[in-house]
This record gives sequence, C-alpha cells and structure tokens, in this order.
Amino acid sequence: MNNKKKLIAGNWKMNGGLAANEALLKALIAGTAEVACDVAVAVPAPYLAQVQALTAGTTIAVAAQDVSAHESGAYTGEVSVAMLKDFGVRYALVGHSERRQYHGETDAIVAEKAQRALAAGVTPVVCVGETLQEREAGMTEAVVKRQLAAVIHLNGHCISEIVVAYEPVWAIGTGRTASPEQAQAVHAVLRTQLAAASEHADRIRLLYGGSMNAANAAQLLAQPDIDGGLVGGASLKAPDFLQIIAAAR
Ligand code: PEP
Repeated sequence: MNNKKKLIAGNWKMNGGLAANEALLKALIAGTAEVACDVAVAVPAPYLAQVQALTAGTTIAVAAQDVSAHESGAYTGEVSVAMLKDFGVRYALVGHSERRQYHGETDAIVAEKAQRALAAGVTPVVCVGETLQEREAGMTEAVVKRQLAAVIHLNGHCISEIVVAYEPVWAIGTGRTASPEQAQAVHAVLRTQLAAASEHADRIRLLYGGSMNAANAAQLLAQPDIDGGLVGGASLKAPDFLQIIAAAR
C-alpha cells in the first residue's frame, strides 16, 4: 500500500521569463491552496529570487535544476548549494538525462552533487533512466541499478533523504510515455535496491518522469511504487500541471 505523500515537481528546463513565470505561478498558486501532495517547481537559476518571492507562504516549493559538486571557488558558470539555500531552495535535480547527455555528467559527478546537496539540507532529486538503445538491448535494469548504486553508496548520509526520479530517456520530451506497467516494473526494481541498502527505503519517494501529462498522470500515479512525478513540458501550462497535481492523492 502506497501511503506516502506524493511529490509533483515541474521541471521548467530552459524556459520562462519574468512575465511568463509570474503568470504561470499566479495560476498555480490559485489552484494549489489545498493540495493532497507536495508540489515543487525546478526553475532556471536566474529566476530563483523571483520564484522564491512569488511562492513565499504558498504550498509550492522552490527547486533548482542542478547544483555544483563543488563548495565554492573557480568554477565559472556553476551555482553552489549555499547559493541555492540563499533563495530558499528545497530540492535540486541531479543527474537529469539532459545534464548527463549534454554536459558529460557521470554517475560519480551525480553522486558528488547529491552528496553536496544532502550535506546542506537540500533534497537531491536523483534522476536515473535508460536510453532507447539500452532498453532495446535489455539493459534497462542494469543501467538504472548502476546509476542508483552510485548514489546509494554516499558516505555518511542516510539515503532516505533523497528523492529518486525514474525518467526513461526515450520518454522525455518525446510524447512517448512509459506505460504504467513499464514504469512500475522499473520502480519495483529501484525499491528493492533501496530496501537492500536502507531500512528506510519505503520512505523514499520514487517519481516517474517522461511525457507525464494530464491524461496519463492518474494511471501512472496509481501504481504502487510511483510516488509522484517529474514533469517537464506539461509543467509549463498551468491547467495541465494542476490536473497532474490533482491526480496525485
Ligand atoms: C523532464 O524534463 O524531466 C521531463 C520529464 O520532461 P517531459 O515531461 O517534457 O518529458
């Protein structure tokens, strides 16, 4: 029985602008005065201050799309976890497939980022997922287990403080969603792996991400090991995102 409070997190990616953000957030705030789940929006770093101010005192938490693996110093373009904390950031995505693909982030770097976030009290949302080629080669389980293993073996931190997002790469931004059964099967694998590493594994929220939308959210979220969603495209449209939030009970 899945009785964890679900988490629906929007990932705006590199979208938005001051006016568009304000309009979107006003609609989201109006629609989330009473919600059954936790809600977050992962916004581009330049807008953290704006989003923090607009969401203050609401049910919407601020998330970052990435965090540096380093504490501070000569890392041009990077944003440290201390900086995120200055803007009230509660969650940080780490290891999103777009970071792995376009920025060469390895499992080791993702683990360092997760550790950096955890140490500062920011919850890392660790993204794992296989490419289409890997799925077709029957490697899905091996790939997600390898990606998760890198994070589970963090030193000194209770892994029940993380959130894991299963995001099959072939489903991200493609309109091609994993079926509820396909997603549940991978989530069950991840849950078993977590259970072997921590007695608190049942507390860890496992999100599904990959073309989740207003039409398919309820079925995905009804699966026993799916504890929420990481939503890209559909999080940019208030009515769609609100419908997904409403489906998370
Ligand atoms: C994502 O970016 O994490 C994502 C799941 O995107 P989309 O919902 O657009 O597939």
